[in-house]
Amino acid sequence: MIGGYYEKILDIDLSTKSIKEINLEEEVLRKFLGGRGLGAWYLWKRVRRGEDALGPGNVICLMTGPLTGLPLGRTALVSKNPLTNGIAHSTAGGNFHQELKFAGYDGLLITGKAEKPVYVLINDDEVEIKDASALWGLSTHETIEKLKKIHNDPLLRSICIGPAGEHMIRYACVVTEYWCVYGRSGLGAVFGSKNLKAIAVRGRKGFPIKDKSKLKEALNIWMSFLQKQAATVRSIRARFEEPYLVTLFGKIGQQGVKNNQEAYSPEAWRLGSFQHDLRHWVRHWSCFGCPIHDKQIGVVRYGPYAGTMVVGPGYEPTSALGPLCDLFDAEALMYFVDLADEYGFDAVGLGRVIAFAMELYQRGILTRDDLDGIDLRWGDPKGMKEIIEKIVKREGIGDILAEGVKRASEKIGKNASRYAIHIKGQEIIGRDLRSDPEAALGEATANRGADHLQGTTREEQFSAALVDSLCLCFYHAVFRRCYEHVNLYSKILNLITGWRTSPDELMKVGERVWNLERCFNVREGLTRADDTLPYRLFYEEVPSGPTKGSKIDREEFERWLDRYYEERGWDKQTGIPTSEKLRELGLEEVDEEISQIRVKFSKK
Ligand code: SF4
Repeated sequence: MIGGYYEKILDIDLSTKSIKEINLEEEVLRKFLGGRGLGAWYLWKRVRRGEDALGPGNVICLMTGPLTGLPLGRTALVSKNPLTNGIAHSTAGGNFHQELKFAGYDGLLITGKAEKPVYVLINDDEVEIKDASALWGLSTHETIEKLKKIHNDPLLRSICIGPAGEHMIRYACVVTEYWCVYGRSGLGAVFGSKNLKAIAVRGRKGFPIKDKSKLKEALNIWMSFLQKQAATVRSIRARFEEPYLVTLFGKIGQQGVKNNQEAYSPEAWRLGSFQHDLRHWVRHWSCFGCPIHDKQIGVVRYGPYAGTMVVGPGYEPTSALGPLCDLFDAEALMYFVDLADEYGFDAVGLGRVIAFAMELYQRGILTRDDLDGIDLRWGDPKGMKEIIEKIVKREGIGDILAEGVKRASEKIGKNASRYAIHIKGQEIIGRDLRSDPEAALGEATANRGADHLQGTTREEQFSAALVDSLCLCFYHAVFRRCYEHVNLYSKILNLITGWRTSPDELMKVGERVWNLERCFNVREGLTRADDTLPYRLFYEEVPSGPTKGSKIDREEFERWLDRYYEERGWDKQTGIPTSEKLRELGLEEVDEEISQIRVKFSKK
């Protein structure tokens, strides 16, 4: 037995109701580790080219990592992305991941489509597909609570979708307990397309390791590392520090306001940490076993939104549902962040879509009639609430906006695409990138579409893929500086698994996963032309504030892309990984398929 793994995953077909176990090979585990990497491998093997992301042929890969179950783990969801048609991946903490590992599984593959709404129930070795008609239509937190009641088990842990996922809103997310979300990539829509409401798990087998002394040693090393990290992470995150970024970016001219028509916001402090700290903070909360304990629970205590309770809110939902929509009312913001979670929306996607619709209304591209009578003025909570209700039910204009800004702009026409702020079809977070070209390049080249978490350099991007494959929390690794801790990861991994994996080999795993994801995108038709930025970032200067006059120089951007591909061993013309690179990474099987695409390009 390899420590850290049960060496098996579940293979569930919702169409045929079949449930099987697949044994994992050590060679595959060493190559991809788990989480995002193992998910990408199964996605590559299982999903045929051109498969509809919202069709039964798409696969949901839910994977743990070798360290999941220790006080540091998460799970990763990987699938085909309904926004970009490329790869989708997202990780979440909370307290679901350890339960899946303790039930004796390293992950799940879910394919097909159930005839009626269902959920998957895993109770150690008992795995069932259950009728979810009593859950369909419920909000995410209602679903999680109801599942506990149905099974009379307060320790049953679940991930689920809300009404947004049920209606296949392309930017729907998957939610787990206490506001932890698999936010980006439209994974909630993929669940909805399969009539899959939830996955509920109860595990009692514990963490898989034979030599308990090694486990103790690994935990001692890890905990003393986390104690040191805690001060840094807490200084960033604790006591609503994260929304401080809204204040900071607003001041320095890097906060998108009114769908990035502006980037300077002296008003942003109204949503900043100090306001939350003073008015909303109740207590801290933590994912399973994490000593950093940095999640902040806040409650709105007075006014029309009194009683609203959320964790955070983090920078991303704050900036998207706040300044992007010109909303600077902290209590209204808390309400919309909570609503997004309850309905199961990715708050970034939702905020960006509302801001896009507001700008089209401002410019007369969408009229009040087009908006089904909604007066969608900047910063007006009433209009925001009304448009969210339309979107979540796919009613009228809501049906178009449910498709995300890229597809909606194509349907609306009238030059609306100039105001659609996305990369590869996935909406960009609220930050304004025009004065930070390095970050813009990172977002443009990320495999899942617009993505502020992957960094730009080789070290940053490969170590981000590594951290997600080990299923570690980004905050433990202090964001993009994960590569500084690879020695530590290899030490812990070797103690747990019994392997002798060097830090260099681990970084190779990150590079392999990054290349495999790129190849998945290439097979789906994405190329260099998709590694680009929205019109506004190239052609409209920031109009005021400290970054006034900034925009991304298009020609220079193309030169950066050349260098980016060269550094990774990819072809400059197409952005396709070379045969040498794929073979160096042990991806021969992938190279065979990609070589046919290279031939097509060379004939063009
Ligand atoms: S650092 Fe925060 S987000 Fe990460 S595992 Fe700990 S409590 Fe969860």
